[in-house]
Order: sequence, then C-alpha cells, then structure tokens
Amino acid sequence: MYSNKEKEKKWRKEYRDTHKDYFREYGKKYQLKNKDKLKQYRIEYRIKNKIEIRERNREYQRKNRLKIKRWQTNFKKRRLDAWSKIIPKQANCGICGKLIKFNSTNFSESIHFDHRYEGMEVIKVNPSEWLLGNECNAENIEIWKSRNFGMLCNKCNPHLPTVNRIDWLEKALKYAKQSYVSNVKKL
Ligand SMILES: [Zn+2]
Repeated sequence: MYSNKEKEKKWRKEYRDTHKDYFREYGKKYQLKNKDKLKQYRIEYRIKNKIEIRERNREYQRKNRLKIKRWQTNFKKRRLDAWSKIIPKQANCGICGKLIKFNSTNFSESIHFDHRYEGMEVIKVNPSEWLLGNECNAENIEIWKSRNFGMLCNKCNPHLPTVNRIDWLEKALKYAKQSYVSNVKKL
C-alpha cells in the first residue's frame, strides 16, 4: 500500500511524464525570458559554493577517470575530424619535403604547424591546440585560413626560432660555412 505522500509523488511523476513536451517548452521559454537573472544566479551560486563545487568536481573526476578520458578522446577525434575537411590530410614538410600527415597519432609523421610571421599571428598558442579548442565553424575557418601557417615535420620545426628567424638563419649559415671551410676541408 502506498501512503498519501507516495501516491502524490507517483501521481506528480506520471503527470510530468505525460506532459513532457509541455514542460520542456515551458522550461525553454522560462530560461529565455530569465536569461540574465539565471546567469547572475549561477555566478552567485558558484562564488558562494566555490569549495563544495571544487570538491564535488574532484570527486567526480576521481570516480569517473576512465569515462572522462574516453569522453576527451572522442571529443578530440570529432573536433579534428571536422577540421580535417579544411586542412590537407597530408603535405610535404616546407623544408625537407618529408611526407607529413594531419591528425596523425605518430609524432614523427604528423604535421607541425609553424608560426611563420614572427609570432604576430592572431593565433599565438600552439596551432594544434587552437584547433582542438575551437569549433570548425565559418568564423574560425576564416581565422585559421588567414593565418597561413607553415607545415613542417617534427625534425625541421624545432630548429626554427619564431622571432628573428631570418637573422638567426643567416648567422647559422655563416657559422656552418665557416666551420666547413676551416675544418671539414682539412679532414
Ligand atoms: Zn622537415
């Protein structure tokens, strides 16, 4: 036998289930109408419950480590798959010509995007990280294309400084030539 309280609870649940669409619409309208108020409430709630929220998040992360990792891997895959429609699947290293691939799990054969304009690009962070952090939509595609990143292999990329690279390369070439003339020829 159900108590009155339980009966009422059951009835409320059934009512909600049969009027699901109505409640969903009502909720959406309410949220839209009270957008600013709800945003303010969320901010205040987060400030007020900072410690509890942090603890709760930690606990959740600790309990769901595998689930989170799977979610992150799926998210990464989905995002890079979307970007692979814009970025060439493979290219040749801009310096040595080695065949390199986009979104490759193998570090030694993946494309390393190069800040070729002295790091003055809008995208200052690691370009691959930027791709992961930004959705592949019209606005971001425009930003990405306008940066015209160079594509290098894992060996050539770390040799180039971002700032003052022409000056550095000229000095490096001078050094290499001097070493060659003064030593290699004598060997
Ligand atoms: Zn290379």
